[in-house]
Amino acid sequence: MDTLTVKSIINPGIDTLNPYQPGKPIEELQREYGLDDIIKLASNENPLGTSQKVIQALENSHLSLSHYPDGACFNLKSRLAHKHCIDEQKLTLGNGSDSLLAMLTQCFANSHRPIVVSEYAFASYHLIAQSFNVPIIEVPAKGWQHDVRAMADAVDKSTAIVFIANPNNPTGCYINSEELEYLLSRIPSTCLLVLDEAYLEYAQAADHPDSLALQAKYPNLVTTRTFSKAYALAGLRIGYSISSPDIADVLNRIRLPFNISIPAQIAAIAALKDEEHLKKSIRINQQGKTQLSQAFDRLGLPYIESHTNFISVDCQTEAQPIYEELLTRGIIVRPLTPYRMPQHLRISIGLAEENQRLIDELDNILRR
Ligand SMILES: *Cc1c(COP(=O)(O)O)cnc(C)c1O
Repeated sequence: MDTLTVKSIINPGIDTLNPYQPGKPIEELQREYGLDDIIKLASNENPLGTSQKVIQALENSHLSLSHYPDGACFNLKSRLAHKHCIDEQKLTLGNGSDSLLAMLTQCFANSHRPIVVSEYAFASYHLIAQSFNVPIIEVPAKGWQHDVRAMADAVDKSTAIVFIANPNNPTGCYINSEELEYLLSRIPSTCLLVLDEAYLEYAQAADHPDSLALQAKYPNLVTTRTFSKAYALAGLRIGYSISSPDIADVLNRIRLPFNISIPAQIAAIAALKDEEHLKKSIRINQQGKTQLSQAFDRLGLPYIESHTNFISVDCQTEAQPIYEELLTRGIIVRPLTPYRMPQHLRISIGLAEENQRLIDELDNILRR
């Protein structure tokens, strides 16, 4: 079949879709530049790596990979329900939390029921909506912050979902409990508010919302979480949503039957048990955030105050050439041109020595 024929039968939305641009993999830079000492501060991965307890659990589990996994994820769901003090029926497991965002869009939005997002919102919401031919209403941000008043005004009875990453990627900003309640109290109960809490473990502000507590009052509030960031399991692809049992039932109906692999289930359980690794990850991140912020202050580079494990810094000039120059020096970061932030680089917080190397190279490049 030729390209022209494929173009004529493709579903609307998909023909013009530009796929998500992931951070450059280390192996790719190795191949392209022949470098061997490479650090990746581009995908907000946990710089400590996976917990040794998780590695041990995988080694000890005598994986029987010829069998299908438990489609219901019984053991993992029990753990999660216990951890969050919730009923298991509120849980849906996904192959990364990205897949839950897709399932929610697939179930509740359509070409007549748009989604609402903020300017600078995480790109996945756009891409997923477009792939299901769902219209997107983008509300201008206030500075780098979501403007919850304007977002509430943008919602009407046709709106299917408001997506908010809290804290948000790539800005690192968060909406506080007052702002979240304002939004929830203004939108109709027919509109879901999906709060993507991929970075929740790093969010330390006293007024950060307790989304699970709010679900009792607002059954249209759905929370998604991931094992990819603070739990250091990005490579295994596992995340989950917490919602009303009715919504979870719908999601579980369209979920592919064995969407969580056996290693992912075992690793997630072990990761939940290893609270030390989580605490250490958060501590190292806090220290790295201070280290990078102080360095940016010294270099005179403005940055957006972050509540996550990355910082978006304003290079005060076009960032793409700096990104490319950093690549030649073996450092992978993320340019934010796709977010219409052409002067910003998003830098994942690494280990102290990785942060230092980034600071030194950035200083070098900017001084020339
Ligand atoms: C990293 C990230 C996710 C997590 O995606 P997974 O599919 O769970 O790896 C979700 N939302 C945001 C905003 C993110 O930055």
